[in-house]
Parts: sequence; C-alpha cells; structure tokens
Amino acid sequence: MLLYLHALKPNVKKIFLIISLLFVQAIMAQSEAKEKEAVEKIINNAAHAFRTGEYEKSLDLSSKALVRAFKLDDDFLIAHSYNAIAAVYYEFSESKRAIEFYTKALHYAESLDNNPLKDFINSNLGNVYYYSKIDVGKGIEFYKKSLYYAVKSNDSSQIAYAKLNITSAYFYLGQFKKGIVYLYETKNFIERKGQPESKLSYNGLLGLYNTHETKNTKAAELYYRKAIAIGESNNLNTFTASVYDNYVDHLVKYKRFREADSVRRIYKKLHSKLYSEAMPGDLDDTAIQIELDEYKNQLEKIESTNERQQKKIRDSRTISILFGILLLFLLIMVYMLYKTNVFRKKLNAELTKANEELQAAKEVAEQNSQLKTQFISTVSHELRTPLYGVIGITDMIIDEHKELVNNEQLNSLKFSANYLLDLVNDILQMNKMEDKRTVLEKTDFSLHDELLTIRNSLQFLADNNGNAFNTIIDPEIPKRVNGDELRLSQILVNLASNALKFTRNGEVTITAKLNKFMNNKYFIDFTVQDNGIGIAEADQEKIFDKFVQIERKEGDYQGTGLGLAIVKRLIDLFDSSISIDSAENTGTTFAFTIAFEKAQYDNDISTPDVMEMVGKELDILVVEDNKINQMVTKKIIERHGHRCRLAASGNEAIEAAQKESFDIILMDINMPGMNGYDTTKSMRELGIYTPVIALTAYDKKEVTEQAANAGINDVIVKPFEPSLLFEMMYRQLQVK
Ligand code: ADP
Repeated sequence: MLLYLHALKPNVKKIFLIISLLFVQAIMAQSEAKEKEAVEKIINNAAHAFRTGEYEKSLDLSSKALVRAFKLDDDFLIAHSYNAIAAVYYEFSESKRAIEFYTKALHYAESLDNNPLKDFINSNLGNVYYYSKIDVGKGIEFYKKSLYYAVKSNDSSQIAYAKLNITSAYFYLGQFKKGIVYLYETKNFIERKGQPESKLSYNGLLGLYNTHETKNTKAAELYYRKAIAIGESNNLNTFTASVYDNYVDHLVKYKRFREADSVRRIYKKLHSKLYSEAMPGDLDDTAIQIELDEYKNQLEKIESTNERQQKKIRDSRTISILFGILLLFLLIMVYMLYKTNVFRKKLNAELTKANEELQAAKEVAEQNSQLKTQFISTVSHELRTPLYGVIGITDMIIDEHKELVNNEQLNSLKFSANYLLDLVNDILQMNKMEDKRTVLEKTDFSLHDELLTIRNSLQFLADNNGNAFNTIIDPEIPKRVNGDELRLSQILVNLASNALKFTRNGEVTITAKLNKFMNNKYFIDFTVQDNGIGIAEADQEKIFDKFVQIERKEGDYQGTGLGLAIVKRLIDLFDSSISIDSAENTGTTFAFTIAFEKAQYDNDISTPDVMEMVGKELDILVVEDNKINQMVTKKIIERHGHRCRLAASGNEAIEAAQKESFDIILMDINMPGMNGYDTTKSMRELGIYTPVIALTAYDKKEVTEQAANAGINDVIVKPFEPSLLFEMMYRQLQVK
C-alpha cells in the first residue's frame, strides 16, 4: 500500500542576527514560500498521476520536483520527491532502485521533525523488502519503525496498518505466535473504524492463523469466507484473489480436494480477470523500463549537480561566516577605537581645563605675591620717611641740648624709633628672602676692617650691659677676600647684638679662623660666643623660627624676633649651616663656616684718600620736598662742618645747579612733579656732572638700576648713619 502526504506549510525561517541581511532574507522567504507551494503542487500531481496509472507522467513530475526541491534546499520536499520516484520504481518491480530511492527519502526525512513522513517512508521500505521477498526480516524491522512513528504521531489507522503488515510478514515466515500478538492488538480498532481493506486483511490473516497454528478448520473457513465477502462487496479484487489463494491452500492441506477444486475455479476466474486488466500496463513495461533507466541517469546527474551546488553553498557559507567574524572583529575594533578616542578627548579636555585652572591659580598666586611685595615695599617706604624725621630730630635735640642726653623720655623716643626702623628693615629683608629674590653679591673686601666696623658700631650696646666685646681674627686670613660683605655683616651684627643683649657684665667674642684653602676658596669658621643667660635645649630649635622670643619679660631685652630667622636664611644663601651650643646661665656659642673667594685686587685704594678728605668744607645741594627731612638733613650736614643749600623741587635744583657750583648733590627720589631720576637726567643733559647721591626711603635694590640709568652716582637709604653718608660722599669726590 503506497501512501502520500499532503504537503505541510513551510517552517518559520530562522531570525538572523545581521541586520543588513534581514531585508534580503525577508524577500527570499516570500519568494521561497511561493516556490515551495509550487513544488508541493507538483508532488501532489505526481501522486495523482501515480494513482491513475500514469507512471511516466508521475516520474517526470517527481524528478522535476526533486530538482526544484534541491534548489530550495528543502529536506521535506526532497524526501517527498524521492518517495514519489521510489514508488514508480517499485511499481515496476525495480525493487533495488526502489529501495535506493526510499533510503534517500528516509535520509532527508530523518533530519525533520515530521513523524507521519517518517512513518510512511519506513512503511514503504518494509513493503519492498517484504513483498519483493528480498529480506522479510528487514521488512519487519522497517514496519516496526513505521509503527514507532505512527504511535508518535498518534495515528490509530496507521498504527493498525503497521501491525497488520507486521503480522502478515511474521505469518509468512511461519512465526504465527509472534504475528498473532500484533493482529489481536488491531481487533478493537478494525471492528470499530476499520476500512474494508483492513477488515479484509484482518479476517484473511485470522484464517491463515487457524489453518496453520490452531488447525481449527471450521474457524479458518469462516474467516476466509468473511474476508472474501468483504472483498467482493467492495470490489477489492487483488486482495480477494489472495484470500481465495490461501483458502485453496487450506482445503488442499486438509485433503478436501473437491471443494478445493471448485474454489480454485472461482479464484482462476478472478485471476484471469485481473490479469486481463493488467495487460496493457504490462505491455508498456518494456518501453517504460528504458525510460526508467534514462530517468535514473538524469537523477544521478541532478544529484551530482546538487552535490556540487551544495558544496558551493557550504563554501560560500564558510566564507560568509568568516566574513561575518571579520566584520564583527572590525566593528569591535572600530568601537574600541571610538571609545579610546572619546576617552582621550575627555582626558585631554580635563587636562586642558586643569592646566588652565593651574595657570589661572599661578597667575593669581604671582599677582598676590607681587601685591604682597609691593605692599610691604610701600609700607616700608612710607614708614621709613617719617622715621627719618623722628630719629633725625631726636638726634638734633640731643645734639643741641646736651643737658637732655640722659633724659628718659627722649631716650625712650629714640629707642622706640630705632626699634620700629629695625622691625621695618627686618620684615623687608625677610620678605625679600622668602621671595627668593636675594642673591649673593661679590665684591673685594677686608674681613679685618669689617670686624672692626662691627665692633665699633656695637660698642655702645656692649657698654650699656657692661660687657667686654672682642673680635679675634686669624692672621692666616688674607687681608682681602671676595664675597658678599653686606650679608656677612648682617649675620655677624645680628648674632653679636643678640649676644650683647642677652649678656650682662660678661664677655662677647667674635672669632674668624681660617679652616682651609680649597678649590681657590678660603673656608673661614666664624663663632659668636657669650657667657650670658644661655638658651634652654628645648628652645634651641625654635629660635630660628620667625618672631620667636624666649621668656620675654616686659621692658626687657629688645628685638623683633626676626633676627635669627634672617640669620638662618642668610647662611642658607651662603650654602652653609649654623650650629648652636648653649647652656642656661653659662652662655651661648653660634658657629658657621663661609667660603670666600680670593680677592681680585690685593690692596684697597680708596680708604686712605677718603680719610684725607675729612676736614675739607664742602658745598652740598640738598634736593628734598619734605620740610622735616630738609631740616634733618641740613642739620646733619652743618653739624659735620659743611655748607648746605636747599632746593624744594627738581626745577629749583636744576636752576641752583646751573647758577652755583656744588661739590655734591643729595637728591630725594620721591618728589611731586619732577622726581629725582628726571631731575638728575636733566642736569646731566645740561652738562652738570656734579656727583649725585640719591636719598631714598625705598630699598636700595629697588632703585639702583633706574638710578644708574638716570646718572645718579650712588644711593643711600633713609634713615642712615651720618658717617655712612659722608663716607659715600668722600668716595664720590675721590672718584671725581
Ligand atoms: P630677637 O629680636 O628677640 O633677638 P632673634 O631671632 O634674634 O630675635 O632671637 C630669638 C630669641 O632667641 C631671642 O629672643 C632670645 O630669647 C634667644 N636668643 C638669641 N640669641 C641669644 C643669646 N646669645 N643668648 C640667649 N638667648 C638668645
């Protein structure tokens, strides 16, 4: 029995990941669906042609269907096409080829989740093996597989057919006990819903069973007759003929020859009728046989073409997959590049912003620092100007009224003014050093003279406290060395004045000793030693900090608390360090080493000549707008036995200098209208080359360069020690 299935709707397509392919895929799915429908139609037509005996047409249609099914790469349609082809071959007893094509059909069906299809193809294979008597056992195996798929698809009619086929095959092999089991299982279904064919088979098989197994002849005959009746009433001639055949065998087996003869006659009649019906088909057989061979060849060609196409498809699939992977990799790379770029940009932006902020902060800091410096410098200037007046006037009073030398209030006034001046100077210096603006200067100088000067200028402090004050200098130290004399003197003055302040009725000694001469440098060890109150060990570190004063008693030793802080920074400038050795009530020794270079010139030419100048009466022009300062400066000059001429402005000064001749001009810088620089410049332009010394409350460093450019010869900072001013004047005159 050959079976055909109605074609099923095609499967839903897989969803592809790559978006760009989706569109193409959608169009393909549509056209594919149509093509599949067409192929299904062809297979159905082939089935119809087969049923109506048009085998040639059936074969033609199913081979065409196969070609198109291959193109579609549709296993379902391929399996169906092969199944249809195999059916025609089987019909023409080409059992081997039928098996070959059914096997191919089964191969393609196996990959599908389609139980009815697998059921049918297995059943068809079982038929070939059984009915062609190629291998009945194998036939049973295929029937059992078919039964398995029929059960899976829950098709009771197919289950019954499979079981009837299994029973039939077992009976053929004489294994009645095995076969009957399957037959009994069909009883229920066949009685209720069985088709005439299955009812006929069922009764016929029961007849056989009773003939051969139970030997119940009566029962056997009853079943045969029942089967024949069903066959005849339903015109199932082929089946009826086979029952007659079995019935004849039964009668012969039980030696009822006469009855057998009459039944055989009926059978022969039927057989000849069947034979005559089959004749035309038989006659065509040879012609069809030739065509079948041709078809077989064509099919082989189709298959090999398909094989090649499949290979191509597989290759192109591999290429597609590789391309896909490459594309994905590239996409990831591009994405990563993009991310990195974004990250870098962000980082750059952040860095730029941070830089800008830093730059802005730096500018603000610089501005602030400049403002601070400017502020301190202005404040110092503004303080120094009136201080010049206070100190100068105090000196004048004491000078003119000798009876007031020991006046307490006057001395307090002088002390306070000096203290204020010290403070201003210290703060200014500290500020400059913190700004790192201070650099060492190098000039030739005499260390011997320097120590002498220090001793002279601090002698009054020593006397105040009843101290002996000594300076000891190593004769090994050359007469002149090269270095920053001013900074060294600042260090020594600070240390020595402290020693003198914190010692009563004791002894203070400054020592300079040559340590070594190395790399063309004199390394000189300095010590400032006293036997005063000493410094507690715990305080020895602190005293170098700013504004630190230990156990300061009201009205006690004076000072700003900046002295040692300045000393420490100055010594740093010399690339050296200071050490302290002190014990309370025993005394203190500060020690440090400074390297000086060899002097460039060995003898000091100025000193003796300068001294010669003392005593000569000079004409001095003082250019000063401040009345108090005019008065102070005038007094200083006249007290030293010189003549003073005053000019209150730049213009007045120029006029005076043009009319009269002066030995020296003392020029204030900060004047309303024409300032000291411009006045000097004008004088120089007018051919007046009288030495000009600028008197300023500014820091010397701040004005030196501008002063030199204007033609000013030297600068002295107010308030000043009168002796210093005169020394400067003599120096200028000597140069002149
Ligand atoms: P000041 O202006 O107070 O002298 P310094 O910085 O020079 O400030 O000194 C800080 C403090 O160190 C002083 O106030 C004092 O207590 C202590 N000191 C400095 N030198 C000596 C010394 N030679 N003997 C005792 N104490 C000293």
